[in-house]
Amino acid sequence: MSEIKELQLKVTELEKQLEKQKKTNKILKERVKKNTHSTGDSFSIFERNIALQKKIASRTHDLEAAEAANKAKSEFLANMSHEIRTPMNGVIGMTGLLLDTNLDKEQLEYAETVRNSANALLNLINDILDFSKIDAGQLDLEILCFNLNTTIEELNDPLAMRAHKKGLDYVSIIDPDVPLLLRGDPSRLRQIINNLVGNAIKFTAKGEIVIHITNLSEKGNKVTLRFSIKDTGISIAENKQNNIFELFTQADASTTRKFGGTGLGLAISKQLAEMMGGSIGVNSIEGRGSTFWFTVVLEKRSQQESLPEINRMDIKDKNILIVDDNATNRKWLSILLKKWGCRSSEAASAKQALELLEEGILQKAPYDIALLDMQMPEMDGETLGRTIKEKELLKDALLVMLTSLGNRGDAVRFQKSGFDAYLTKPVKQSHLYDCILTILNSKLKSVAQKEKQIITRYVLAENRNKKRRILVVEDNIVNQKIAIKILEKYGYRVNAVANGQEALHALKLASYDLVLMDCQMPVMDGYEATKEIRNSNSKVMNNKIFVIAMTANAMKGDREKCINAGIDDYIAKPINPQALKKTIERWLELRR
Ligand code: ADP
Repeated sequence: MSEIKELQLKVTELEKQLEKQKKTNKILKERVKKNTHSTGDSFSIFERNIALQKKIASRTHDLEAAEAANKAKSEFLANMSHEIRTPMNGVIGMTGLLLDTNLDKEQLEYAETVRNSANALLNLINDILDFSKIDAGQLDLEILCFNLNTTIEELNDPLAMRAHKKGLDYVSIIDPDVPLLLRGDPSRLRQIINNLVGNAIKFTAKGEIVIHITNLSEKGNKVTLRFSIKDTGISIAENKQNNIFELFTQADASTTRKFGGTGLGLAISKQLAEMMGGSIGVNSIEGRGSTFWFTVVLEKRSQQESLPEINRMDIKDKNILIVDDNATNRKWLSILLKKWGCRSSEAASAKQALELLEEGILQKAPYDIALLDMQMPEMDGETLGRTIKEKELLKDALLVMLTSLGNRGDAVRFQKSGFDAYLTKPVKQSHLYDCILTILNSKLKSVAQKEKQIITRYVLAENRNKKRRILVVEDNIVNQKIAIKILEKYGYRVNAVANGQEALHALKLASYDLVLMDCQMPVMDGYEATKEIRNSNSKVMNNKIFVIAMTANAMKGDREKCINAGIDDYIAKPINPQALKKTIERWLELRR
């Protein structure tokens, strides 16, 4: 990879030369102007002007040649990175298969090292590909509708896992006045956040990582959002704070440095933030960690108000106790509960929680639910739960366990300790909401303790999916079966038809939440069927139903064809169950 690094350095060097030449040209042009206006020996002025003009012409020629060479180099890099990816996929794919076979301990360790190294190399290649694409002006943003909350929650899962593995607390907060239904490039947004949070985790040994999203300003249908990522890590010296956003620059450039990396991440993030109409920066105080921030301008979508405010009435005015030793976590939960119209109090320890719960009952303002964090010093959440249940006065309290460590058998254990629900952190807003609602409802129905099932995120997802209906449109019977099997596994209600015409018929008769549409089909293909669904004169029940296409070849141009037909999104065949699940959830979430 050092060749690539060298090439990139050469490109940077060339750019500097270009800048210099541009400046010289400007000076030369100004001299010509001056000479033309000044009096004096007209003949020599004439000669000097000719000479200067020749010089300008030659410099301009050099400039154009250098610019072309620069562009060619970036294009070469972009192509080459692409070429490298193909064999890399072979290495990673085959290592994956190898790891599924019976290996002894030593072989397993070797194969895992190969996989980890290959993944690291692929990440590096992706970074270089991105950078050269931006540099060659080939990177276009892909503007899509997205839900900011879903985008952030999707990111939170893997990042929080990495943070928790290092013993760090991880919290992400979206301010209540931040619009969630937006148009922009969610995957590039994710890329910047991933980079910054990835760094924050890498450079922090203890403490917490906090992502905070705020609304800076709104103008017409545009909103400027600010994302800040705060860590309690090694911090960055003031004189290094500007440089780190440059290509291949690291705060610690010594050969003995402790942390790996290429120095590309921040440079890419900077370019991406600027492409999205924003900027990037860092505040860091020695010994107190760093806060990286960036801003982007996004478009608001008109149906903001379609968020389920009516639903939110269900838990309005409920009184909830938040028990967590981490102040940022408590703050996040109280912001969220306030948004839903709940009342809440905070306890920073088990002892304080017991006091508040008792006080609530004695004052005739009992708490409806207590949210307990598992990892607390002195007395952990589970012991606190058991203690509450042992006290006559408090034994009817509804308890929810929030834990960053998810282990097999937890659900059964927590149920035995008296918990009504258990969710793993980072807790998705919609999960917490559904969880509170579900346990309040089961209390209303006074389900006997014995028959009670502890609420987990799987139970919640199943309950949610049971209410959702999906139409699969696919002529190939085998593919149809596969799609149905996958969707049913996730708890959705599914019907299937064999072509576009049958799909239109089905959509006239019943109401569905989403259509999974094959593109090539006999009688009527997926494009034509979707055009007809979108036609306001057609008799389908919902012109705006989400349509996700399944395409065999994700060729350039396919996407345009899908978008022109009114298809919302597409997934590539062969269908990957996880990818299908994620795509469907993402779209169904948009309507929440
Ligand atoms: P890489 O992490 O691959 O080296 P980046 O461009 O992402 O490249 O970061 C450049 C440098 O900025 C890092 O090498 C590190 O010195 C510094 N840096 C970035 N994020 C942090 C952070 N959260 N805390 C301390 N230093 C950081």
